[in-house]
Amino acid sequence: MTDVIIAGGGIGGLTLALMLHRAGIACRVYEAAPEIREVGVGVNILPHATRELAELGLMEALAKVAVTTRDACFYNRFGQLIYREPLGKHAGYEWPQFSIHRGDLQAVLLEACKQRIGPDRILTGWRCTRADQDGSGATARFNEAGTARELPPQRGSAVIGCDGINSAIRRQLYPGEGPPVYSGVNMWRGVTRWRPILSGASFVRAGWHATGKAVIYPIRNDIDADGRQLVNWLAEVETPKHQLRDWNRPGDIKDFIARYEDWHFDWLDVPALLEAADMILEYPMVDQDPLERWTFGRLTLLGDAAHPMYPRGANGAAQSILDCRTLADCLKNERDPQVALGQYESARLPATAKVVLTNRQNPPDAILREVFLRTGDRPFRSIGDVISREELAGMSESYHRISGSDRASVAR
Ligand SMILES: Cc1cc2nc3c(=O)[nH]c(=O)nc-3n(C[C@H](O)[C@H](O)[C@H](O)COP(=O)(O)OP(=O)(O)OC[C@H]3O[C@@H](n4cnc5c(N)ncnc54)[C@H](O)[C@@H]3O)c2cc1C
Repeated sequence: MTDVIIAGGGIGGLTLALMLHRAGIACRVYEAAPEIREVGVGVNILPHATRELAELGLMEALAKVAVTTRDACFYNRFGQLIYREPLGKHAGYEWPQFSIHRGDLQAVLLEACKQRIGPDRILTGWRCTRADQDGSGATARFNEAGTARELPPQRGSAVIGCDGINSAIRRQLYPGEGPPVYSGVNMWRGVTRWRPILSGASFVRAGWHATGKAVIYPIRNDIDADGRQLVNWLAEVETPKHQLRDWNRPGDIKDFIARYEDWHFDWLDVPALLEAADMILEYPMVDQDPLERWTFGRLTLLGDAAHPMYPRGANGAAQSILDCRTLADCLKNERDPQVALGQYESARLPATAKVVLTNRQNPPDAILREVFLRTGDRPFRSIGDVISREELAGMSESYHRISGSDRASVAR
């Protein structure tokens, strides 16, 4: 088989390269950015995806830079605890959950790619514009990022569109798809250097979109002599106001801080955390309806290009890593790449479509919505008067099952 062409050197593209290499399949990665550098803020890798990265031998490198997440905590906007559950190894999984700076994750993957596949196979500044195919192979076409100068076409056995939320390959396959679907919730994301909060490795969700929800978790430990952490946060607010999706769009604290100004809890002063941010980005909560097909002969889509989803289940990066494993297995076990790409789609399209749709209705933060509705957005005397622990645990477990991150699926 000739090389597999990977368009996009993000989390999915680099993971796929490592998995294809392990399967003995040659590949090349073409990334649009002129250099791969630290962009974004926090992402989460749940045990179903950590397992895949561990099998690539990346555990030690990841554990060094990530926070090993200990527990998930849900609070109302009055700072009252609704529900807490252990995560990853603390919940009995064989693999941990990591909360990690996206740049750190990408750097670990990139370093492994350079060592194993060779730096000459990771090309930067190559923006894929389209891909074509014939009976014997596929051809990806590129412009030089920045100048738009046409670069030589690249030929391989297949082209995999790992080119993220604004995928050129998806646009080519679905020219009439239309814009992403706005959820009605806008998000501001940031990082703040802060003292450890709660367990020091807690994934906190608090409040609800109608009045303001916050997601807060650390992504780097011991960043200074005072033992502070780099803490990632999201402010999610219901509003018709939003801009086009762009991971790097700067945000302004004035647009959302009012929602959090009385969030002074004994476990955290939320407005102080938000105000002390190093940087703030703005991003609309958008997704796209699941596609009917990803694979067209020798072309297919992977990760966000295939299934952009609301970031409400901490599953965007994880699902792209699971895609990589399935695709690499299919290409390893099936000589005809067209058949392999079809098998990959059959396995992963329905599974990820369920996650996309569940993220709209019943992701883990549905726990917050339920309590918000049942209490009429008022403090409670005891959470047991509002909802039972069994019901809360059931809501959480049901999402784990749908996303494949329940203990039984991970232990397969
Ligand atoms: C700049 C940036 C910041 C992000 N920040 C966060 C964050 O803070 N929190 C979070 O949860 N998720 C973030 N994400 C998204 C997150 O990485 C993905 O949701 C997830 O990891 C799935 O990975 P992916 O490989 O499908 O997409 P991505 O990781 O987004 O990778 C797509 C890659 O394709 C490249 N690319 C785009 N167009 C082309 C093209 N035409 N030709 C070649 N290459 C192309 C992009 O530069 C990028 O490197 C960010 C993504 C990017 C690109």
